[in-house]
Amino acid sequence: AHLIKDDVSDGSKSFKGHDMLAPFTAGWQTTDANPLVIDKSEGCYVYDADGKKYIDSLAGLWCTALGGNEPRLVEAAMKQLNSLPFYHSFWNRTTKPSLDLAKDLLEMFTANKMEKAFFTNGGSDANDTQVKLVWYYYNALGKPEKKKFIARNKSYHGSTLISASLSGLPPMHNNFDLPAPFVLHTDCPHYWRFHLEGESEEDFATRLAKNLEELILKEGPETIAAFIAEPVMGAGGVIPPPATYFDKIQAVVKKYDILFIADEVICAFGRLGTMFGCDKYNIKPDLVTLAKALSSAYMPIGAVLVSPQINEVIYSQSNKLGTFSHGFTYSGHPVACAVAIEALKIYKERDIPGHVSSMAPRFQDGLKAFSDSPIIGEIRGTGFILGTEFADNKSPNTPFPAEWGKLANFVAGVGAYFGAECQKLGMLVRIAGDIIMMSPPLIMGTEHIDEIISKYEKALRATE
Ligand code: PLP
Repeated sequence: AHLIKDDVSDGSKSFKGHDMLAPFTAGWQTTDANPLVIDKSEGCYVYDADGKKYIDSLAGLWCTALGGNEPRLVEAAMKQLNSLPFYHSFWNRTTKPSLDLAKDLLEMFTANKMEKAFFTNGGSDANDTQVKLVWYYYNALGKPEKKKFIARNKSYHGSTLISASLSGLPPMHNNFDLPAPFVLHTDCPHYWRFHLEGESEEDFATRLAKNLEELILKEGPETIAAFIAEPVMGAGGVIPPPATYFDKIQAVVKKYDILFIADEVICAFGRLGTMFGCDKYNIKPDLVTLAKALSSAYMPIGAVLVSPQINEVIYSQSNKLGTFSHGFTYSGHPVACAVAIEALKIYKERDIPGHVSSMAPRFQDGLKAFSDSPIIGEIRGTGFILGTEFADNKSPNTPFPAEWGKLANFVAGVGAYFGAECQKLGMLVRIAGDIIMMSPPLIMGTEHIDEIISKYEKALRATE
């Protein structure tokens, strides 16, 4: 309450809110009005500034994979801070943690051979890096016309100019003069919402692959540089791919000499019950984007993994030009890398993917059991990621009127109402209109799963 400068109960235009220009905020309407201030975390729980405890079913923001107070990560950070808080990794200087982390990541990612790791501050600048690498690569190959990117409707790839352009979410574009003209969007692979009557998942996947091929042919394959996809779409509403989807999409992409970028920012390090999303769906990418659980979010860091073929071209070109002129001050930040090295060790030692895989049925089946609620259209997910979409008549074609579920004179949406009920009950979920999303810490045990299910049920009954 001490952060609030003015009362907003009447929606007054004079309201100024707190002093932060908060990310993803509807002006005074949401975060600024009454922010929940989180103060402390412990395992799968967080506490607000008043000491109220919440089970964190979102793991921070799909990222605190090892929960709130893993001592090994804190120790790794402290040790590195004491010995070398920072040195850069430019111009033939670097630090040991960044070299070691690159080695560990290349060993760990086995879906396709990767040759190099480039470090960033997070996922958005990693995806920007992807675009620059791809352009540099094709320019070096003497194919400067190969410049366009294909992403998918409802994808989320970040918030910078390029990563927001790649994202297939209109609010990311509106009034920012985006998307950039080199970005094309193809179908969202959401079977429940977009399949035709009588169409099987396999037939739906075939149709989407055909649509992708038609888009490529219409644009000219010689102009298409790369295709980017999240193995399971996250922020777009948790959308796992329909059966056979990635096999068919990869065949098209390969046919036209288009690079495949796997955006593993949410899926990597066990969330789907496999170490990487690519392992689960047999994706063989040329480039991989990592962030979030890479350090269990204890320090900001992202990475791009580069295939040998792309690396070779980039290296010979930078030799010709004198420099590969791309990098961030904090690329390979030693403290972030030291924490990430420890996080990767823990994922392997504790077999986090195996843990998720064995616990997933309790989590998924326990929540999907509420699918017959009259206000739920679909509950979907895999591993430790799950989305609930509220819909009138249980149909994707009849969303609830935007005003429904109105909480105050500003927050609306049935999902918002449900999310607020969860919060009252001591559980945090991600709310996006009529969709709510969960991606709990990967260390979650049966007691946490049962608590989530019980709070979900209470919030659902209150919303119905
Ligand atoms: N890619 C995906 C799939 C994401 O989910 C996100 C963030 O949620 C990003 C990229 C952007 O990452 P960051 O917020 O670290 O810039």
